[in-house]
Amino acid sequence: MITNIITRFAPSPTGYLHIGNIRSALYSWLYARKNNGKFILRIDDTEYNKLNKKYSDYILYSLEWLGLYWDDRVYYQSDRIEKYLSIINYMLSNNLAYKCFCSIDRLNNIRNICIKKGLKPKYDNFCRNKNFNYKNIPYVVRFKNSLSGNISFNDFIFKKIIFNNNQLDDFIIQRSNGAPTYNFCVTIDDYDMSISHIIRGEDHINNTPKQINILKSLKYNIPKYIHLPIILDENKKKISKKNFLFNIKNYIYNGYLPVSILNYLLNLGRFYMNNKFNNIYEMKYINNLFDLNKSPCIINNKKILFLNKYYLNNISYKKIKFYFKYFIINNKIYLNNIKNLDEIISFILIRSYLIKDIVDFCLIFNNKIYFNPLLILKYSNNNSLLILLYLYKNIFNLLIWDIKSINLCIKKLIKKFKKIKIDYIFKILHFFITGKEFSPNIIKIIFLFKKKNILIRLKYCIKKYLLKK
Ligand code: GLU
Repeated sequence: MITNIITRFAPSPTGYLHIGNIRSALYSWLYARKNNGKFILRIDDTEYNKLNKKYSDYILYSLEWLGLYWDDRVYYQSDRIEKYLSIINYMLSNNLAYKCFCSIDRLNNIRNICIKKGLKPKYDNFCRNKNFNYKNIPYVVRFKNSLSGNISFNDFIFKKIIFNNNQLDDFIIQRSNGAPTYNFCVTIDDYDMSISHIIRGEDHINNTPKQINILKSLKYNIPKYIHLPIILDENKKKISKKNFLFNIKNYIYNGYLPVSILNYLLNLGRFYMNNKFNNIYEMKYINNLFDLNKSPCIINNKKILFLNKYYLNNISYKKIKFYFKYFIINNKIYLNNIKNLDEIISFILIRSYLIKDIVDFCLIFNNKIYFNPLLILKYSNNNSLLILLYLYKNIFNLLIWDIKSINLCIKKLIKKFKKIKIDYIFKILHFFITGKEFSPNIIKIIFLFKKKNILIRLKYCIKKYLLKK
């Protein structure tokens, strides 16, 4: 049964979604799903920006990646300009809005006077009742805001919020270039789309009274408002789309799991924070969805990382494989023909924080690996040559391929080169076998290579880097 609860997520395509945007999307999605309602996706793209398409496509992709699927088609504000303009005309002819011909100089002047007096800059309503209608002079359209009285709303989290109309001014609803403004378009859209609950970040609280006033003037219904407390970074600064650390592209690129990010966000600022949901569908059973602390939350990427480690080891292997494949396709990584991939993944899984860690480990087993030239210089010497030649010979002679026999091989090698520090021997082995100076248990890694491939790797390093040409 569909109820009449309708929520929406309405990002502006000005960059990649950040963690705060994802949180608004998650709560809007959850509230709709909990109530068998609808979740609408609307792209607020009235502000022209040549990257709109790139960013809005990535928003859709990110929401799909997170599993936050929307109902209906995607709505784009840029498709609705005519609708906004027709309502602005209606408002102009019904005395709900007016044309303002004030010059930029005049507006700057008013602004400076307010600032000097220590007041919030406000338009002085000069054109409000003049009905000016000049030809060929640029103008903006202003909303005729009430001059007195209060606007109040009951936010589910911030509770009763009251604004006085004299805190607002006759704000612009259409710019001099003809473009309708953000507050206006959002209000009309929310009404047209029958949005019952507007769930968004706290940074929009100051927009809410303006939007309510527009709705009231048009005699439209007023939805419920829920503002989610602001998220700050570790330095207590507002998170912005420009900070790569907190944007979705970073999380996708590094191989986080959507379930870890969503669990982290659902617990952020919550009074009782012990929920661990195995997937997004279980999240709808959370009680008291809006039981959140009003104060700003500080984001901690390390906690997301630890949660990710937890989920890597608590979701099904099938899902791990899914995200693994997704990651390598997305990052255009080629893993050529590693026959025992499952065995390799299972070994590294428990030590990994991110899908990227698993993939990086698997790359060791690729036919070709990257050796850092500086490290080559550091490790290319006669000792390395002798150690690798000895290991090659001993592995070549092994009849049984198991951990025990490989272990014996290494012990023999340590004994043979007893003049060289064990640590250094291991560093050499790690480096030439894996391309890295540090890696987990080298005996297990040799085992995972299988005999044929480890011999190929050793031979390659000996010939390419260690034998004097
Ligand atoms: N488009 C606005 C933004 O990205 C959000 C609009 C809203 O939620 O009301 O900040």
